[in-house]
Formats: sequence, C-alpha cells, structure tokens
Amino acid sequence: MTASDQCLFCRIVRGDIPATVVYKGDGITAFRDISPQSPVHVLIVPDVHIGGVADLDLANDELIGRLIRVAANIAREEGIGASGYRLISNQGADAGQSVPHLHVHLLGGARLRLPLV
Ligand code: 5GP
Ligand code: ZN
Repeated sequence: MTASDQCLFCRIVRGDIPATVVYKGDGITAFRDISPQSPVHVLIVPDVHIGGVADLDLANDELIGRLIRVAANIAREEGIGASGYRLISNQGADAGQSVPHLHVHLLGGARLRLPLV
C-alpha cells in the first residue's frame, strides 16, 4: 500500500472519492471544497502526490507555474476574475493544513478579510 492509497486528495484525483471537479488536465485537478469558506472555494491540486509546498523541488517548477495559471483561469470561469480572489496554500500546523497533499485554495466571490489572526 502506497502513501497515495491513504491520501484523500490522491483518491479524489483518481475518482475513488466523489468530488465536484471543475478542471482536469496537464497533471492538475481542481474541485470544489466540501466546506466552502467563501462563495467560490475551489481546491487546485497536482495529480502527483506532493505533501505540501515544503516538499517542492526544482523538478516541480513547471507544474506549480501551471497550477497557478490554472487557478487564475478557473477564477475567470467562476466569474471572479475582475472582482478579485485569493490563493492560499497552507503548510503545516500553524497554517492549519489538514490534508497533506499540496493544494491551493481559490477563494472569492466576497470581500475577504485580513488579518487572519
Ligand atoms: P487545508 O486545511 O489542508 O489547507 O485544506 C483542506 C481542505 O480540504 C479544507 O478546506 C476542507 O474543507 C477540504 N476537504 C476536506 N475533505 C474533503 C473532501 O472529502 N472533499 C472535498 N471536496 N474537500 C475536502
Ligand atoms: Zn496525495
């Protein structure tokens, strides 16, 4: 049994667990967060298992560039390209990372607050 058998987002990427997928292609999958924190809340993940931003290496640079560009494209498709949005990737305990598979949250559709603490 590999790590990806246990990983929630690997299982969603494979289609073993249902999700509302809004994009799939070029090694990236995007799906709606099950517990949305804003009117638009989409998670964009690499299909390959990467634990988080702390696990990235040089070989992932192209993939991550594409992932960010896909996020911006989804934002346009979701109708928040002009109103604005936030991309967040939580890393580790203080950030509240709960799923150890790299993901970028696309949040928008309302005025988002700062500061976070
Ligand atoms: P994190 O807290 O790790 O940055 O983000 C994990 C996100 O995954 C949370 O926003 C949480 O709501 C979402 N999530 C957890 N389980 C599921 C699930 O089974 N399906 C979907 N679509 N999202 C999930
Ligand atoms: Zn995974």
